[in-house]
Amino acid sequence: MPPVPSVHSPALRTPRSSIRSLPAAVVVVVLAVVATAAAVVVADLLRGAAPPSPAEAATGAVLLAAGVLHHEIALGVDRLRRRTPGVHHVDLNSVWTFAVAILLPPVAASAVVVGLYLYLHLRTRRPLRAPVHRHVYSTATIVLAVHAAAAVIALPGFGRLGSFALPVAVAAGLLAYTAVNTGLVLGVVALAGPGVRVLRVPGTGHEMALELATLCLGALAAGMLASSTPFVLLLVIPPILVLHRTMPLRDLEEQADTDAKTGLLNAAGWHTRAGRALDAVARERGTAGLLVLDLDMFKTVNDRHGHLAGDEVLGAIARTLRAEVRGHDLVGRFGGEEFVVLLPRLSGSADHAEVRRIADRIRRRVGEVRVEVSGPHGPRTIEAVTVSVGGAVFPHDGDGLTALVETADSALYAAKRAGRDTVRTGAHGFGPRGPRRPRS
Ligand code: GH3
Ligand code: MG
Ligand code: MG
Repeated sequence: MPPVPSVHSPALRTPRSSIRSLPAAVVVVVLAVVATAAAVVVADLLRGAAPPSPAEAATGAVLLAAGVLHHEIALGVDRLRRRTPGVHHVDLNSVWTFAVAILLPPVAASAVVVGLYLYLHLRTRRPLRAPVHRHVYSTATIVLAVHAAAAVIALPGFGRLGSFALPVAVAAGLLAYTAVNTGLVLGVVALAGPGVRVLRVPGTGHEMALELATLCLGALAAGMLASSTPFVLLLVIPPILVLHRTMPLRDLEEQADTDAKTGLLNAAGWHTRAGRALDAVARERGTAGLLVLDLDMFKTVNDRHGHLAGDEVLGAIARTLRAEVRGHDLVGRFGGEEFVVLLPRLSGSADHAEVRRIADRIRRRVGEVRVEVSGPHGPRTIEAVTVSVGGAVFPHDGDGLTALVETADSALYAAKRAGRDTVRTGAHGFGPRGPRRPRS
């Protein structure tokens, strides 16, 4: 999520704030985007873009002042919002930056964008202040988005639409702005690692709607400013503050559904979403798989390496589970070292063999996880943690979530009894070669 269209995405929000802590691919993209934004502005200047007229300079100054006023008022809300960890944030600056994209030539618009983001960076105090590279990346994506919007709005074809020309051109500009800004932010989130859920970030739909509402307000602000006095912008601030206030609520809702230790859904959040997903599968007469996973002899990991190291292993295994399933699959932490996965869109004829195949792939991947931990005697590697998996198939093993979880849970016990590090499915605990065959 990203989440969307903002630099405050978790992908860029690493605990260490240095750009060196980011994956190499992310660093390359960040540098490339910043260089492209700079090159686009320099190209404008080399093409002989005229310096802004006094009227354009005044418009830019008024929009910059409105952006500063908006943030001074919203600062209290922001402080609260950015204190909630692990959630995505849209910044609502697009109301001003999209207005400048409509009203000013790209070079002047870029100058306002740089001014606004510089003010924001300097005004936000630690620990809430984002590291410099995040602000620079954010500024660069907005400069590119502003250029894309201005280029689309200036297309000659809209002239033929008569009185519809202006609204259609502005709507097309709005889409270009969103596509460039969101695309660049999501691209970086996707590159940041397989553990980061890009396409099904909770709240992505809400945040996209928020961003589009902000841009619409930006278009209205531009229209009003073009035909009236600067004070008319004061009318834009109340609705933008109301949009601001919807964000902490949304963040808290997301937090309530998230397991803090692993970032996966917690049991309550998983149940709600899995219930809804299973209802949809039932309506479409589809099939689904459900897996319950329990790490083997995890107590010994804690006993040997300590609870904190055990927590790191739980985090690494959570990321592995997320990476091994598709975006729409629902991965939750049931509690302790137990996880649960709903696979809601299996092929129409999916059966136990299919669910066992997926579960076995996950089991093998978990077995490959290696976690470096530091201890009193120096760094150590924890490896060879194994998992037992129980599976159930909808509708074969039950027509509701509770029945499926019960079946998968009893299959999990069959897997434990069969010697651990293995998969069993269904009420009879079918293993790789059919019905259960206990080893002892
Ligand atoms: P098995 O499941 O194979 O029977 O053995 P086990 O040792 O994993 O046993 P069980 O599932 O009953 O025990 C769960 C252990 O997981 C107990 C506790 O030490 C550990 N555990 C549970 N929650 C956490 C947690 O949040 N962090 C850490 N580090 N350990 C946890
Ligand atoms: Mg357990
Ligand atoms: Mg266990």
